[in-house]
Amino acid sequence: MSENVIPAPEVHTIPTAGGGTFPVRRVYCIGRNFAAHAVEMGHDPDREPPFFFQKNPDNLDASGEFPYPPHSTDVHHEIELLVGLKSGGTNIPLDQALDHVWGYGVSLDMTRRDLQGQAKKMGRPWEIGKAFERSGPVGPLIPASDIGHPDQGSVTLLVNGDVRQEGDLNQMIWKVPEMISYLSEYFELKAGDVIMAGTPSGVNAIERGDTMEATIEGVGVLTVKVV
Ligand code: MN
Repeated sequence: MSENVIPAPEVHTIPTAGGGTFPVRRVYCIGRNFAAHAVEMGHDPDREPPFFFQKNPDNLDASGEFPYPPHSTDVHHEIELLVGLKSGGTNIPLDQALDHVWGYGVSLDMTRRDLQGQAKKMGRPWEIGKAFERSGPVGPLIPASDIGHPDQGSVTLLVNGDVRQEGDLNQMIWKVPEMISYLSEYFELKAGDVIMAGTPSGVNAIERGDTMEATIEGVGVLTVKVV
């Protein structure tokens, strides 16, 4: 029997509404999944094939605080539906995709927009803009057995009480079953994988001391202080 030569890293977990924890395996994030957001970022809103990037499991953070990250002066909020999978597979048919969902939550895809912009311009990967420490504030995952599979409902982000982002889950270009099915054609999905489902328009910069209040109707409210 072989032994680890270094201490095994902990499996990262996020809280669930019932008081349990959800172990996170991978974090897939879709880009430009709301037409109005695609337009504000300078892109065509037409339905082209979806694309994904990843954050690291331990970037997800349920502390309620977001430490302003280093090497950026333009950090943006992106409110997103979080989808947690209880099972997976490859080539999952569309009509079976939702059977793999354990639950849903409210999350923020925090972005060092200046570094992401430089990376885009140079044809480089996005991790430096997207996958930094505590870049994914999350609220508790709520089981689908309690709330069903939300496919409509308002998505609202306030900063210090002012509305910054507003949309509706029904405006998502790629729906949750489509994202699961598509991802499973390219990757083997497994229990613990989560998907951040894209953001409506209105992304903007935050500053230290700001309070972000992210609400997805039918899912929950996530309040995060920028420190
Ligand atoms: Mn995003």
